[in-house]
Amino acid sequence: MSHDRPHLVRTPEEVRTVLDAHRRAGRTIGFVPTMGALHEGHLSLVRAAAAADDVVVVSIFVNPLQFGEGEDLDAYPRTLDADLDLLAPEGVALVFSPAPSTFTPETRRTTVHVEGLTGGLEAATRPTHFDGVTTIVTKLFNVVGADHAYFGEKDFQQQAILRRMALDLDMRTEVVTCPIVREADGLALSSRNVYLSGEQRRDALALSQALRELADGWEGNVDSGRSTLLGRLTAAQGIQLDYAEIIDPETLEPLEGVRSGDCQAVVAAWVGTTRLIDTMRLRV
Ligand code: AMP
Repeated sequence: MSHDRPHLVRTPEEVRTVLDAHRRAGRTIGFVPTMGALHEGHLSLVRAAAAADDVVVVSIFVNPLQFGEGEDLDAYPRTLDADLDLLAPEGVALVFSPAPSTFTPETRRTTVHVEGLTGGLEAATRPTHFDGVTTIVTKLFNVVGADHAYFGEKDFQQQAILRRMALDLDMRTEVVTCPIVREADGLALSSRNVYLSGEQRRDALALSQALRELADGWEGNVDSGRSTLLGRLTAAQGIQLDYAEIIDPETLEPLEGVRSGDCQAVVAAWVGTTRLIDTMRLRV
């Protein structure tokens, strides 16, 4: 069966016009912010939104503010036509894809900053990244005015920061976190996986395998868990480890000793010039 592509709009005004009508009719709005190059991970968020909300909105915007100096902003895959085709069967009412020149103009002077959660892990090597994310997500939340916004657990630090931001700023949009979608062999889906050669893709599997082994054998010992994870990933071929940590899922603080409550393992590594992240819940 063929489906029509979702309605594509480029300006905040158009989004508001369409969504105001739905709001007046009492419909709830579910929102999925993305940078495009959509894959099954993104589609799982769209399906979660469609299951819980009446109207689903997807944004596709490669956010220049969240890329640092020398990162892959220009190379980042942009596949709007294919994205719209992928969304066609998913019952998406609206796709918002603003132009960078109007959505992030040179004249902007406002930054949204979340304290505390934005210091370590990803931020250690990407110090401006999360301010870029929180500033743009605030703008998107203001434009869409959704009841719920769906984010992937894969970007674990990001969802924790956005949850805090929405709470602290009394935003009407509630942040909902959804599980990671993986390939059959365990590799977490990512728009950046297209950068990987066949060999690099095989090397990249060490990340999910090391996390899986840790989670399967988890008995709450953070110190030995972390050193096993570090040992495994520093020894892995073709991988340049950035960090491997076991953290508190809420505060994101690195843990120590023995824990009976839930912990979260988070890793980041370079495979060639591609930076990949992955994460897994650790439960006794
Ligand atoms: P991105 O387009 O990379 O900014 O991602 C948009 C949203 O999709 C974010 O909330 C990501 O956490 C989520 N996402 C990315 N990859 C996956 C995945 N493999 N499984 C589930 N969600 C994902």
